[in-house]
Amino acid sequence: MQVFADIVKMQSHISSLKSEGKKIGFAPTMGALHLGHISLIQQIQDRNMVSVCSIFVNPTQFNQQSDLDKYPRVLREDLTLLEQHDCDIVFIPTVDAVYPQDLDTRVEIDREGLDMTMEGHFRPGHFDGMLQVVNRLINIVLPEAIFMGQKDYQQFALVQHMGHKLHPGLDVVMCPIIREGSGLAMSSRNRRLTEEWRERAPMLSQTLKEAKSRIEIDPVQEIQDRAFAKMRSAGFKPEYFEIADGVTLKTVEDAADHEIIVACLAAWAGEIRLIDNMILKDSTL
Ligand code: AMP
Repeated sequence: MQVFADIVKMQSHISSLKSEGKKIGFAPTMGALHLGHISLIQQIQDRNMVSVCSIFVNPTQFNQQSDLDKYPRVLREDLTLLEQHDCDIVFIPTVDAVYPQDLDTRVEIDREGLDMTMEGHFRPGHFDGMLQVVNRLINIVLPEAIFMGQKDYQQFALVQHMGHKLHPGLDVVMCPIIREGSGLAMSSRNRRLTEEWRERAPMLSQTLKEAKSRIEIDPVQEIQDRAFAKMRSAGFKPEYFEIADGVTLKTVEDAADHEIIVACLAAWAGEIRLIDNMILKDSTL
């Protein structure tokens, strides 16, 4: 495993691998790695590509300074985990290298409303920063494919959209959500859950499962209301529980009108904001 902080050194290493005919698979992360992140590396390896993992806590995607300050940073542990899982290249740039003063890195594309709902509504500016960093990292790493988790469904939809607009030919691969045995979706933020919330948190995935079992039976609004009430009565502070079209992310009114339907939620478990989602229906399979 080779670790680079320097962009030019990494690029010259990557271009020599490319000249040998190797293909690059890229997994951008913010560190505090867990098996969800590692699953992205494994998907890259399964495709016989060179795995590049970036670890960069991106300041432009945090809409609250306190959230950025509290974001877990455990580089040594991260490198050990990546080494154990045979990651090929780790990229750990500085903020100044990602955002040099003389480079305009903002992404100006029509997002077709994908960024207006759910996370976009509750975390204003978050997706501007996310697209900015992912686009910048793609331009540095120049991968053939980028691997992103379904865990951040709306993020994936936006990156896929940006891929079509700005990086034709780039394969944007969605990797399934990795969950703990309890059903809790793995997340770097889970490290900060208290013991009590850790016990209660699996309820979120149960709520999603229940929604899945009722999607073609009950009215959508009823399913959403029930899920919201259930989260509240367990002590969570839910921000949204949205049943949306899996492609446009527009609100679903009648499940019969949509091929792919996803339920996405965000809820505060005490001080920690958790998100999760589940595909409720996919008639393309
Ligand atoms: P993050 O470090 O939280 O920015 O996540 C980096 C990448 O890992 C994103 O593409 C996430 O969607 C993905 N990811 C995070 N948690 C999981 C999980 N539990 N299962 C699968 N992918 C995940």
